[in-house]
Amino acid sequence: MNGTRRVVVVGAGYAGVMAANRIAAGRPEATVTVVNPRDEFVERVRLHQYAADSGDATVPLAGVLHPDVVLRVGTADRIEDRQLLLTDGEVIDFDHLIYAVGSSTGGGPDGAEHAFAVGDLEDAERLRTRLRDLDAGASVVVIGGGLTGVETAAEIAEQRPDLRVRLVSSGPVAASLAPRGRRAVTRALARLGVRIREGARATRIEADRVLLDDGTECASAVAVWAGEFRVPDLARRSGLPVDTQGRLRTDGALVVPGHPTIVGVGDAVAPPDSVAGHIRMSCQAAIPLGAHGADTVLALLDGRDPEPLSMGFLLQCVSLGRRAGVVQFVRTDDSPRRWALRGRTGARVKEQVCRTTLRWIGPGAGGYRWLRGPRRARAEQGAMV
Ligand SMILES: Cc1cc2nc3c(=O)[nH]c(=O)nc-3n(C[C@H](O)[C@H](O)[C@H](O)COP(=O)(O)OP(=O)(O)OC[C@H]3O[C@@H](n4cnc5c(N)ncnc54)[C@H](O)[C@@H]3O)c2cc1C
Repeated sequence: MNGTRRVVVVGAGYAGVMAANRIAAGRPEATVTVVNPRDEFVERVRLHQYAADSGDATVPLAGVLHPDVVLRVGTADRIEDRQLLLTDGEVIDFDHLIYAVGSSTGGGPDGAEHAFAVGDLEDAERLRTRLRDLDAGASVVVIGGGLTGVETAAEIAEQRPDLRVRLVSSGPVAASLAPRGRRAVTRALARLGVRIREGARATRIEADRVLLDDGTECASAVAVWAGEFRVPDLARRSGLPVDTQGRLRTDGALVVPGHPTIVGVGDAVAPPDSVAGHIRMSCQAAIPLGAHGADTVLALLDGRDPEPLSMGFLLQCVSLGRRAGVVQFVRTDDSPRRWALRGRTGARVKEQVCRTTLRWIGPGAGGYRWLRGPRRARAEQGAMV
């Protein structure tokens, strides 16, 4: 390697911090700069706790980043050829850029502007303030029966047993779990007093009610939209290749086609199905993607060909308040196995997983190893990079 190489990481979430720390640990002679809007690491997996007032969700980035990584507090406005433009006018030159801007909650039915959310810290803060103001007996309607909606409804119901919490889901609640895990979820929600409405799609959110597609409605002092995640439009605005959801397209090694200096990691990217067809937006995927993106940059710095991504899942974890949880074992392609840990054991394991993520992505990230992907993806990799 000739001279000091400048690596810039945009976004200090799970994927970005992992990538920055792993490069700093692997190439002390490279300069690694992380650009992030705040000097705190947001533990997004705890934002439902934060919103419900049962815990914090931020830690100082200084305690998570490798001592050699430089933090630049700011927001990326545009990516150009070897230059990153910030919204405050600064221009940062780079030899390699890692795109790690993550996701937040987006979309929703008509009237979604009346809804609250837990997708990012600002959303969770707004919901927390609103919940604190609610009088006993007020109705909270959580829309979306996926794991984020389940966790949010459970957390609010446990912290505020004086509220009436309802969970509305167009399909079965916690559909990604095996039947035993799903039963544990619905029983725990019932114990917390959460009323479940399955098979009803919210069509409109108003200030005091949620209208459903079967013609009925639910009164709501607060509606929480827990639908799909959306990604920032930085890649699209920068003229980089994106998929229909605006996620940055990469090849199998996470390099952006036609832009060999840019590597994409985490929720905001769309690698080809041959390596990532089974990957859902999750912290569990963002961490190995961040590590793999770092290894790709390290290979490019050495003049080596980067390896194709191979990443498999192990668990789906869902907290049901602070005293219960379900940890569903899954195959590497994320399909559920029969076994699941439930109750207090599930809650303890989920909490342990959340704590361990901070250790994995921390200054020792160079030693992090992860589960390989499903066999089908591995077999297809030869044809893909
Ligand atoms: C309530 C909740 C519970 C969850 N629970 C789980 C769980 O149990 N298990 C699991 O696997 N996943 C869970 N998830 C999903 C998980 O949090 C995300 O998939 C994960 O955070 C994605 O990591 P990331 O690094 O790609 O992005 P993020 O964690 O979203 O980080 C992206 C970073 O980029 C920054 N950024 C964005 N735009 C710019 C810009 N223009 N310039 C500079 N910086 C920028 C953001 O501010 C942020 O710091 C949960 C999510 C929520 C909301």
